[in-house]
Amino acid sequence: MATVAPVPEGHTIHRLAARHRELFAAQIVELESPQGRFAAGAALLSGRTLADTEAYGKHLLHHFGGELSLHIHLGLYGRFTDGESPAPAPVGQVRMRMTGDRHWLDLRGPTACEVLEPGQVARLRARLGQDPLRDDAKPLSAYAKIARSAKPIFSLLLDQGVVAGCGLIYANEALFRAGLAPTTPGTAIGAEQWQPLWDDLRALMKEGVATGRIDTVHAAHTPEAMRRAPRVDRHGGEVYVYRRPGQPCLVCGASIERGPMAGRNLYWCPTCQPARPTPRPMQRRLGATKPAAKTARRASAAPPAAGRAQSSS
Ligand SMILES: [Zn+2]
Repeated sequence: MATVAPVPEGHTIHRLAARHRELFAAQIVELESPQGRFAAGAALLSGRTLADTEAYGKHLLHHFGGELSLHIHLGLYGRFTDGESPAPAPVGQVRMRMTGDRHWLDLRGPTACEVLEPGQVARLRARLGQDPLRDDAKPLSAYAKIARSAKPIFSLLLDQGVVAGCGLIYANEALFRAGLAPTTPGTAIGAEQWQPLWDDLRALMKEGVATGRIDTVHAAHTPEAMRRAPRVDRHGGEVYVYRRPGQPCLVCGASIERGPMAGRNLYWCPTCQPARPTPRPMQRRLGATKPAAKTARRASAAPPAAGRAQSSS
């Protein structure tokens, strides 16, 4: 399974949950820890039935009969490999190996791989924010935290206690698509701005689950539509600002900027995401199609946008 994101964002974890459900759910599975560091946990779970799998933000849960859960957070270096049985001899530091009826699964290098009891699972969920990929998410609950925080919206989107599963690429890209300056304090975000931002984030992440990569450009800004070369970057697909510093904005032609914020890399277009009290989301500006690079535009001018976003009505 190929992973392209620098740190797996929520869509990767949801894909893994679906994959593991498909391979192992309702089966009695054997667990072991070839490396030894998860030996006690593996012994506790081995021989039980894997009832279901679940993703919550960047956390993966395997729920076992008998109410124990395996909790995994991949962190920076964790990764899974799987295949059809028989499993090959373990290579390298395999923290956990699961074997079911017809498949095996290896986990290497996770930040967390532990067995949780129901109360611990409940506490994990309680400290996480709302996951746009979950149907039980409550966007207004995330908004309540945002609206009372003076922190920049960029930091709030990355705060797993506010929005669970949103990583660097989605945070940078969703703010560009919303026409929001990343420095906008949470207190300045109106509910009418939050809902479309949430909806867009959810749509982008769902597409990531479906395709296994992160593409965020509207139809009008694909390489084909713009007759430009495809982006080459091991960190992902077609995007507007992420890891594009100094390159021209695909919408207006301005140079994409980069800056650190809370230790993370922030990317933005100074024209499309001007710092102002009441930015208007890109979704409401549909209709304008004139290529922007030709004309110098004032900071307050609306950048043209077209493509996948829903039209305003
Ligand atoms: Zn721009």
